[in-house]
Amino acid sequence: MRGNCTVIEIDSLEFHYQHGEFHLSIPHMSLAQGEKVAVIGPSGSGKTTLLNLIAGISRPQQGTVTVADQLVSAFSDARRRDFRITNIGFVFQDFELLDYLNVQDNILHPYRITRALKLTHQIEQRAIELASGLEIADKLRRFTGELSQGEKQRAAICRALLPQPQLILADEATGNLDPRNKGKILDLLFENVESHDATLLAVTHDHELLPRFDRVIDFLDFRSEAAA
Ligand code: ADP
Ligand code: MG
Repeated sequence: MRGNCTVIEIDSLEFHYQHGEFHLSIPHMSLAQGEKVAVIGPSGSGKTTLLNLIAGISRPQQGTVTVADQLVSAFSDARRRDFRITNIGFVFQDFELLDYLNVQDNILHPYRITRALKLTHQIEQRAIELASGLEIADKLRRFTGELSQGEKQRAAICRALLPQPQLILADEATGNLDPRNKGKILDLLFENVESHDATLLAVTHDHELLPRFDRVIDFLDFRSEAAA
C-alpha cells in the first residue's frame, strides 16, 4: 500500500440500503497517505455507512471507491473481505467481537481466517504488548461477555491494530471510554499511524479531540455539498 500519496479516493458515489429511505451521495472525497482525519456528524447521517463502503463491507450502486490504488468497489465479496482483513484495521462501532472466543483469540482472529496474515510467536508477543498498552492484559483469557463496554472497545482496537494496517478506520473508538482512556486510545492510534506511515479515518463525537487531527470532515457540510 506504500508509494502512493492517495490512500482513499471516492468518486460519484451513490449508495442506498435495500430497505429504507437513506441515501448517501459523495461526489468526491480523498485521503492522502499519513493523514489523520476525523469524521463528525449527527447520528444517522451515514458515518458508519461511509466506513463500510471504504472497507468494502458495502458496495455502492454507482461510483467508485479506490483504496490504495485498488478499485475495491469492483471486487467480488471474497476479494473485498481478504483485502479488508489484510489492509484495513477496522474498529467497529459495535466492536464485533466473537462471544465464543476469549479476548486473546479475538485479537488473533484475523490471523486465523486468512492465509495472507501469518501468526508467529512475535505477533503473539505484540498482541500482549498492545493489550498491556491498553490495560487489558489481565483480561486476555476472559470471554468477551465478561467485559465492560470500555474493555470490549479496547479489545476491538487491539485486534484492528495488530496486523499494522496501512489504513485504520475507527468508528467512535473513543465513545465508551472515560476521559483518561480517550486520550490514551487516541495516543495509541496516532502512534501506530505515525510509526507505520499509515492513514487514519476516525468517526468521533469527542469535539475536544478534534484539534489533534489534521483535518475534520463534517458530515453535514459533506451532505449539503452533495445535495448542491
Ligand atoms: P451514523 O453512523 O452516522 O449514525 P449510519 O451510517 O449507521 O449513521 O446510518 C445511516 C442511515 O442508514 C440511518 O438512517 C440508518 O437507520 C440507516 N441504515 C443503517 N444500516 C441500515 C441497513 N442495514 N438497512 C437500512 N437502513 C440502514
Ligand atoms: Mg455510526
